Amino acid sequence: MTAASLALGTAAGGWAWTADRRADARAERAAAEERVAAVVDAADTDRAAAAAAQAALTAVGTSAVLTGPRAALDGALAQARATLAESAERVADDAVRQALAATLEAAEAEAPAASAVRLRALAADVAAAEHGVREAVAARDAAEAEAGRAAAAAAAATAPRRPSTSAPAPSADRSCATTYSGPAFYTSPPTEGGDGSNGRLPASALTAVSWARDSRGTPFYLRHDAAAALERLNAAFRAALGHDLALDLTYRDYDTQVAMRAALGSVAATPGTSSHGTGLAVDVPELPCEYGWDSAARAWLVEHGPSYGWVSPAWARQDGSNPEYWHYEYRG
Ligand SMILES: [Zn+2]
Repeated sequence: MTAASLALGTAAGGWAWTADRRADARAERAAAEERVAAVVDAADTDRAAAAAAQAALTAVGTSAVLTGPRAALDGALAQARATLAESAERVADDAVRQALAATLEAAEAEAPAASAVRLRALAADVAAAEHGVREAVAARDAAEAEAGRAAAAAAAATAPRRPSTSAPAPSADRSCATTYSGPAFYTSPPTEGGDGSNGRLPASALTAVSWARDSRGTPFYLRHDAAAALERLNAAFRAALGHDLALDLTYRDYDTQVAMRAALGSVAATPGTSSHGTGLAVDVPELPCEYGWDSAARAWLVEHGPSYGWVSPAWARQDGSNPEYWHYEYRG
């Protein structure tokens, strides 16, 4: 109570009334403040719900956008790991493998938080580094093959000729005799219980071509798409040359590749790396008159094969690193 209010001479009842009014005003104010607080709380709750919904929407959208690039990167990483494992001790300078290992590691570290664009860039980086390693392996293999050929030529000058291949008997014409002088190897049936890796393809992964079998009666197996494309190629080949494409070897399993490598040395691909092990390569007979560099069959195959997905790889060309006129690969 102040001196001023006393001076007004207010009656006791007046004081009580004034006090009541003040109490009411405080209560009203408190109630109003509570209402404001409630409205603010509700708004906060709405905001939080909206933020959560937005985050969920973003996550759904983001994961859909990232699925393709992530799969692409995963594929590139898996291929890179396989190439790294296969290329150990198989390159002249290991720096190229170390570069791939570093690129791979960096991509793996960055991938979880990377955007779609970045994921694609990482996949491209990994693929480029992986390609570098494969080229280095091919270069080293070619150099070894060259050394092997030189040694074989030297040996052939003194040693008697070894048994013939599984190819048909050579013609009496010496210029048409097979150019193969190693031990006989045959095409492989599907690998029972095969896990799908190189040289271990199960029956479910392979199709036999319809028109030929090898000299032991084994059908010529290829990966489904490669077999279908070769059927189409053979129909056109037959129309042009009057006979089916002759085959010597298609799918080759891991154990056969091991035996071949042991017998022929570095001229044969390292087991686990041959394109015959993936069901994507054919060898036609090593008969120069029929399929050699200057034959009509080869001219047709080189010109028309690519439109069926079948090519003579650069390394197998006459001027390539490892000339093999009989070898063709399916590139799709
Ligand atoms: Zn071949």
